[in-house]
Amino acid sequence: MTARAPAPTADEADLPTLQRRILRDLGRAIADHGLIAAGDRIMVAVSGGKDSYTLLECLRLLQRRAPIPFELVAVHLDQAQPGYDGAPLRAWLESEGYDFHILREDTYSVVKEKVPEGATYCALCSRLRRGILYAAATQLGCNRIALGHHRDDAIETLLLNLFFQGRVAAMPARLVSDDGAHVVIRPLVYCAEDTLAAYARLRAFPILPCNLCGSQENAQRKQVKALLARLDAEHPGVKSSVFAVKKAPKSSKHSKIASPSTLARPTTAK
Ligand code: SF4
Repeated sequence: MTARAPAPTADEADLPTLQRRILRDLGRAIADHGLIAAGDRIMVAVSGGKDSYTLLECLRLLQRRAPIPFELVAVHLDQAQPGYDGAPLRAWLESEGYDFHILREDTYSVVKEKVPEGATYCALCSRLRRGILYAAATQLGCNRIALGHHRDDAIETLLLNLFFQGRVAAMPARLVSDDGAHVVIRPLVYCAEDTLAAYARLRAFPILPCNLCGSQENAQRKQVKALLARLDAEHPGVKSSVFAVKKAPKSSKHSKIASPSTLARPTTAK
């Protein structure tokens, strides 16, 4: 019997292979967590980064072949950061024929004013952005808000909470807002970041720069990312194994082992 060739890495794979991989993981996350139902109107938050472009495109591919009807509305938020230019994103959304809205809210000035010099802006910025997205979803009649967080984001959040907050809390695939009015979904939660990056590169999405706010990326998240990269290089499959749901045998004392994606809401902003 001849041994099967190993699957190509994300960097080696061609576009159809990457697309199949993403759609398979997307479908699995949707089925496992009940992320989409017939008649849903889903607001897809598009930041202009690789993950949200890929999410939007792959959700549309899925929409075309899904047995149930659902709608997609792309929403981008211009946060009035210095040097921001959303023209390439707008042109792409138009040329691809998406139903889309571009909102402008000056969260940048608010964050600059409220956050002390030297501290990171991300926590307040994320809270403000979330509020604006919730309000937009209500206005646009959307009952779901899809975000582009992926498997690596979820693992990093799990470890950050474990290492720095002393609790086991991951980024859920499906989250109902505190007032019960909104449902946030993360359909890419099973997709590996390197697959999404390779897909975005091959599709040549017009990526908007993500450093305009001048905030330093969360140093702890950077460290956890580097640690995971090192571990995964030395022991390939480490990241995948974090996501492998293992049910303990009935006889075991440890009767419940939950998947990270089913655990409580995160406490670390991303
Ligand atoms: S990095 Fe992102 S979340 Fe953090 S302040 Fe800048 S725009 Fe906001």
